[in-house]
Amino acid sequence: MGGTGGISEMTGTTGTTGTPERTESEALATLHRVFGYDAFRGEQEAVIEHVVAGGDAVVLMPTGGGKSLCYQIPALVRPGTGIVVSPLIALMQDQVDALRALGVRAGFVNSTQDFHERRTVEAEFLAGELDLLYLAPERLRLDSTLDLLSRGKISVFAIDEAHCVSQWGHDFRPDYLTLSLLGERWPDVPRIALTATATDATHQEITQRLNMPAARHFVASFDRPNIQYRIVPKADPKKQLLSFLREEHAGDAGIVYCLSRNSVEKTAEFLSRNGVEAVPYHAGLDAGTRAAHQSRFLREEGLIVCATIAFGMGIDKPDVRFVAHLDLPKSIEGYYQETGRAGRDGLPSTAWMAYGLNDVIQQRKLIQSGEGDEAFRRRASAHLDSMLALCETAQCRRGQLLVYFGQESAPTGCGNCDTCLTPPQTWDGTVAAQKVLSTVVRLQRERGQKFGAVQIVDILLGRRTAKVIQFDHDQLSVFGIGEELEEGEWRGVVRQLLAQGLLAVEGEYGTLVLTEASGAVLRRERDVPLRKEPKKPAASKASGSSSSGRGKAKAAAAELPAELLPAFEALRAWRAEQAREQGVPAYVIFHDATLREIATVWPTSVAQLGGISGVGEKKLVTYGEGVVAVLAELGAAPGQAPAPAGPTPAPAPARVYATDAGADDHWPEMDAEPEPDDWM
Ligand code: ADP
Ligand code: ZN
Repeated sequence: MGGTGGISEMTGTTGTTGTPERTESEALATLHRVFGYDAFRGEQEAVIEHVVAGGDAVVLMPTGGGKSLCYQIPALVRPGTGIVVSPLIALMQDQVDALRALGVRAGFVNSTQDFHERRTVEAEFLAGELDLLYLAPERLRLDSTLDLLSRGKISVFAIDEAHCVSQWGHDFRPDYLTLSLLGERWPDVPRIALTATATDATHQEITQRLNMPAARHFVASFDRPNIQYRIVPKADPKKQLLSFLREEHAGDAGIVYCLSRNSVEKTAEFLSRNGVEAVPYHAGLDAGTRAAHQSRFLREEGLIVCATIAFGMGIDKPDVRFVAHLDLPKSIEGYYQETGRAGRDGLPSTAWMAYGLNDVIQQRKLIQSGEGDEAFRRRASAHLDSMLALCETAQCRRGQLLVYFGQESAPTGCGNCDTCLTPPQTWDGTVAAQKVLSTVVRLQRERGQKFGAVQIVDILLGRRTAKVIQFDHDQLSVFGIGEELEEGEWRGVVRQLLAQGLLAVEGEYGTLVLTEASGAVLRRERDVPLRKEPKKPAASKASGSSSSGRGKAKAAAAELPAELLPAFEALRAWRAEQAREQGVPAYVIFHDATLREIATVWPTSVAQLGGISGVGEKKLVTYGEGVVAVLAELGAAPGQAPAPAGPTPAPAPARVYATDAGADDHWPEMDAEPEPDDWM
């Protein structure tokens, strides 16, 4: 079947046994019956067929691409239990709850359980009563775990978040290195490694470190067409964020990423003070608070989390409508993972970032003053340079991202990023660049001094500030030579020179110095095209003028005709009630997309409901009557005469899967990232 992208088979041999026609239909039947979906997406079918037949696979798919089914269906189709290795202890309970709501026999073993809970799960595994068992990687270091696994029957090993094995990546977990033993110990059990990190280097490293030389490689398209990418010039970031939220995402759930703990706290406070409910999340908060905030984000509608990068991996909330960055991420890999958490449900979403001169200076300083050897610094600089190139590009952002991930040769317009929607103008900044560079040169040659961007801009603008007078900088020949541009424009020039490597920062104070490339500009041997800052940022495609409050899923309702909105809202209210009773996130009951289709189709019988995407066998039995009753209470579907409801099978009593609320859920694995102090 066609999909969003091609499969590239890079190495290796295919698996061994199995008759494709039989397994294919069995896999498809499972997709229909358990998950209630009509068809596989993109590479899913090929991956599943391969793993069901016993082959190893390395799967690269963007966040929201549908990786879970790639191992869940083989685990259901093949005899035995699928073992899922995942670093995300704090999310295992939710993952297992979601599977049980589908009628899948799932369990987990981790440090949040007491002895009896663990024993129960182990017994279920040994008795062959589990389809899927989730484990943290550190468990596999224990002989007791290996011993347990060898006494049961395993259908497949799934290694989720496989990029954690990469030492050069952004999420390294040492325990992942031990996973290479799985192939030696269980040579007959297929392994599937999955990640949303796409670069070739990571890809190769995963294959090598997990010792999967014979694996077949599946690379899906990394495009996320429903996410609108926007990068705006940073002026007053918190206020800019607030207007972005008020104008385009009122009432929507989303994540705001900041670099430091301090700015996380301040931003959450600022938003809450301004009537936008937001909670902080960073590694400095105690485990209980972190778990509580994460759980609220998953369970409530329209809550915002302000977070460091410690938050988000594995969060599979489908209706995150925006991801905002108030600080520049360190690499495109990190940026793409973080923004990818928006819009897993395929509905319009926004990736928004405010970016300015200080970001460049601070990131450069961090690299210079940070730990690590010269090779590490070079790599970090290369990552930053790519990120800066994305920020400063006048071409399509999405195209640039796909080029970075090796999936496009040149950016072509996508029509859904800021540079496509409002093409930035470029101007010949050669003279402006020369003025900045000469000022830096004069200070150094004539005075033996180095200064930061603020002083350089003040000199260019001819401002007699206290510091200018103190250092007699009004006596320099370059004093006041730049009155044709405003302060913000000069800062933009300095920022772009830094991004282009025509200027560099040095030392603790971030003073500006020339680079090897600067000379060519000063000697007029090259031009410096610069990007004009857009005065007003592009408006979102999905934006409306609605100022609806929290709890109104604007984007989800966006494409519904007005007469169906009452039904959609009634279904959402019913869903919220169910979710509360069972202690699970609302999307575990049904996704917004499913509720939308229900409101559109307006099924009058349980049987009719069964035909809707996202309604599998188990959910039909559990919720069928309830959903039909919600619609019946509203009367006939708009534009239709009331029809008598058809006979419906008696519903099974709703089973309640309470969450393990008392568990001391923690996130030790996520605390590794050192966070610099706040500078905003
Ligand atoms: P990933 O783990 O790759 O980020 P998920 O496995 O969480 O993505 O899937 C993303 C969303 O897409 C989920 O809500 C999932 O239910 C849905 N989905 C996956 N495969 C299909 C399919 N074949 N048809 C319809 N929806 C699907
Ligand atoms: Zn574009």
